[in-house]
Amino acid sequence: AQLDSVVPEPNRRQDRGSDDPTAVVRPSGRFANVPDTDPSLPPNRAWGRAITERIATSTAGAAQVAEHTVQDVSALDSVMTRAVDGGRTWSAMSGTERAAILRRAAGTLEAARPVLLEVMASECGKTLDQGDPEISEAVDFANYYAAQAEELDHVDGAIAEPVGLTVVTPPWNFPVAIPAGSVLAALAAGSPVIIKPAGQARRCGSVMVQALWDAGVPREVLHLVHLSERDLGTRLVSDERVGRLILTGAFETAALFRGFRPDLPLLAETSGKNAIVVTPHADFDLAVKDVVYSAFGHAGQKCSAASLAILVGSVARSARFRDQLVDAVASLKVGYPTDPTVQMGPIIEPAEGKLRRALTQLAPGEQWLVEPRQLDDTGRLWSPGVKAGVRPGSEFHLTEYFGPVLGLIEADDLDHAIALQNQVDYGLTAGLHSLDRTEIERWIDRVEAGNAYVNRSTVGAIVRRQPFGGWKKSAVGAGAKAGGPNYLIGLSDWRVAPATA
Ligand code: GLU
Repeated sequence: AQLDSVVPEPNRRQDRGSDDPTAVVRPSGRFANVPDTDPSLPPNRAWGRAITERIATSTAGAAQVAEHTVQDVSALDSVMTRAVDGGRTWSAMSGTERAAILRRAAGTLEAARPVLLEVMASECGKTLDQGDPEISEAVDFANYYAAQAEELDHVDGAIAEPVGLTVVTPPWNFPVAIPAGSVLAALAAGSPVIIKPAGQARRCGSVMVQALWDAGVPREVLHLVHLSERDLGTRLVSDERVGRLILTGAFETAALFRGFRPDLPLLAETSGKNAIVVTPHADFDLAVKDVVYSAFGHAGQKCSAASLAILVGSVARSARFRDQLVDAVASLKVGYPTDPTVQMGPIIEPAEGKLRRALTQLAPGEQWLVEPRQLDDTGRLWSPGVKAGVRPGSEFHLTEYFGPVLGLIEADDLDHAIALQNQVDYGLTAGLHSLDRTEIERWIDRVEAGNAYVNRSTVGAIVRRQPFGGWKKSAVGAGAKAGGPNYLIGLSDWRVAPATA
């Protein structure tokens, strides 16, 4: 109930050079999203340039990676023992007491914004404009789950019990927001946490965890470990002291981890293969902008990315739509984030397997409108590609690629487009561009996706406004939505409250 009272914040200058980071910390019981950095303000451009200059030589987080790398897996046992013991005091605290520390974490994460941007660019190739909203999201998670923790103290007729030791295994594509959100949710619900950052994003995870320790999350309660995926599964997740697993990654990974301990409750956000439908009633300018942003932001490496545009009826034959799309894609500036003018960065690892096929080969019926090119010998830097003529049921239609390639499929009418959208195994995000009310209502009723967006990109869900999580093979386990009102429910065990007079 408290969360429903969104109190408008006074307009703040978003001058990152002089902002007080604690200004983003919300008073108890209130929530409002924090603003991203406004690059139109000259001080913010200077601030961004200073960060950019540090990217090439950044070693942020390296010390923590050295310190928390588990060389000898027997050391894991003692980490687990310490986490279980350390968690007792944390679990005994009220939600309101834990919330006070989480709110401080909003401030330390905000204060770490420049170093987080630096390390995301240096380690994962994330451009500043992609990293900045991710940090806002992490700050929002801290404030939002703090408010949720306060609510746990006042659930009518039920008592929320912490589930105990929670293992968090986040992905590399959102190397700050997803680990932060998962850890903060588990902490809010009263559980101790062991986090194992993705191998490609160890420094990012370490800097984020340091911000939470700096906020007063006890080190006995939040443990950072760097170890291999195999040891994570066989040694950590399979241990019966673990009470929950929060996993974000491929559907196959979640299925594998489920196999390690079938009885372990799992909250997993998994794969997506997402499409935006464009009908003749769309605003083409807006549709092109949103398709390009959804397909090529962070080089398409988002579960939420749209790697298909489904063009309805005359849109498929519209030279105006096609030319605008081709121009927009071909003019994207590609490079490394050490160049502040770059709009699309590298992919995380050299393109191999199915992604390389999608970037270099055409199936029957397909033609390149914009052919991707490998731009250097790292195998990581690719110019963006658009292929037309993708056939229903083909590999491109149904496969998640996680890279900078967009396919176009033609549909006879809106119902056909919806059928194509629903034909995939996943159901994470979906988009519709149409200004026609009847079309919008028809689409919303029929599309099978957890996050269905109208006249908007499919990426960048905002905490509280757009709780994030999918249907079908895009979620395994409880299926609760991150950044939404039900997330902590899956992280608590519930007891009926004793009747009070
Ligand atoms: N929450 C992110 C978004 O809305 C996507 C997360 C992911 O790719 O795993 O864009």
